[in-house]
Amino acid sequence: MHFELEAFLDRSQFPLMIAVLVLLLVLETYRPFVRGRRGRLVHGLRHGGLFLLSIGVSGFIIVLTNTLAVRAAEHHFGLLNLVALPSLVHVVLGLLMLDLVSYGLHLLSHKVPLLWRLHRVHHSDAELDVTTVFRLHPLEGFAVLVCQLLTVVAFGVPMLALLLYAVLSTTSALLQHANLRLPTRVDRWMSWVFTSPGMHHVHHSRHVEETDTNYGRLFAWWDRLFGTYRMPPEDLDIELGLAEFAAPRYQSFRGLLMTPFMTPEAPRPAPPAPKPAVVPVQ
Ligand SMILES: [Zn+2]
Repeated sequence: MHFELEAFLDRSQFPLMIAVLVLLLVLETYRPFVRGRRGRLVHGLRHGGLFLLSIGVSGFIIVLTNTLAVRAAEHHFGLLNLVALPSLVHVVLGLLMLDLVSYGLHLLSHKVPLLWRLHRVHHSDAELDVTTVFRLHPLEGFAVLVCQLLTVVAFGVPMLALLLYAVLSTTSALLQHANLRLPTRVDRWMSWVFTSPGMHHVHHSRHVEETDTNYGRLFAWWDRLFGTYRMPPEDLDIELGLAEFAAPRYQSFRGLLMTPFMTPEAPRPAPPAPKPAVVPVQ
């Protein structure tokens, strides 16, 4: 069963991801949350270009990470291999470790100025849609993949956990960024386990006290556990993007690549008075 699922995911992860992407693109076209958006194709192509560049720069790290996951199982290295665990427990713990490290890196990307310079490329999108998932500066993509590689080596994350995490976290990220809206009740229920689209839209707010919440990639538990959870407003009426990087010159392909190295004219706005639309966690 274990090997059958691993072989299936290994074979099918890319077709599965493309199917989810196409489904969400179709829903965004016919049932968008924000209507009347223009220039979706160019907006998406810019993000696709960034993604291809990232794969060109860092694709070898993905191959290396997969190889190390297999070697970890063969040679029993990594913390999870120090004790004899049932394989299901090993896979679940591997999945949790990958997501916890992702949460930690995301939080640091907001707190450490050098990392924020890279991460703000992702946040400067005022027109969030499913393609925003690919809006990652190639240097940030490199940092994310190196962290994942180190997690696999340190914990001995098995290949099945790595494949499951790739499929689940990518599906979750595509849904979180899509220009769609789940019914409020569904979004709230979902946020007890997974980072919901509503939670992630709060994270993309242009108000820093909202941006610096809801860091989870797949599971919402880390935000609830570490006090960074923020409940989305019922109407999801959230101002998106970064005011200081809203000018068109920051939104071109070149502008996205150069954003980490540019100093905006206006500093990042100070936290305004709390917005009544967003309800803090009780
Ligand atoms: Zn972020």
